[in-house]
Amino acid sequence: MKLLIMGPPGAGKGTQAKILAKKFNLVHLSTGDILRKEIDKSSEVGLKAQTYMNAGNLVPDEVLLEMMQSTLTELKDSGVILDGFPRTIPQAIGLSKIFQSLNQAIDSIINIEVDKNVLITRLVERAKKSGRADDTEEVIVNRQNVYLELTAPLIEFYQSNIIHIDGDGSIDEVTERILNHIP
Ligand code: AMP
Repeated sequence: MKLLIMGPPGAGKGTQAKILAKKFNLVHLSTGDILRKEIDKSSEVGLKAQTYMNAGNLVPDEVLLEMMQSTLTELKDSGVILDGFPRTIPQAIGLSKIFQSLNQAIDSIINIEVDKNVLITRLVERAKKSGRADDTEEVIVNRQNVYLELTAPLIEFYQSNIIHIDGDGSIDEVTERILNHIP
């Protein structure tokens, strides 16, 4: 099974992706986590990504596409849940080419929806504990704006193939809503 989970920063997509990965035995591919590991290793990709991430901007599409092309090819025989990718229309087009070349397709696309004010409150709370360099208030606001400008258009791109989930509620409630839609 190939799942894709989308939603603005703070919607809880990482939390839900982990739960779904466990339940359906999928590899959880969080591009944010992968990039943070690359930064820790000071790899070439990590060094390229760091400045963009710290400012809350997107890492260039070609970096992500190259990284995901090799990762998805390696994992072609496994179920995966994509969390945080694609984040732009060119990434979505690139992803469909990658899956086409592997003779595969996305089974379900989940979009978690949460009101913008709730998101900012959640992220400011998370910032107190996370120690993430991109969890300052200024960067949080920038990440929401980047989402609206570059990532939200994916909702139109995927249109009727998306399952929209209300992300306001407890973790269990949101999981339950998602599971009601997954065959
Ligand atoms: P996340 O952990 O998903 O919130 O991602 C943290 C940061 O990693 C984002 O603000 C971006 O700078 C970068 N990032 C993660 N995924 C992508 C992507 N698909 N395209 C571009 N940048 C990304």
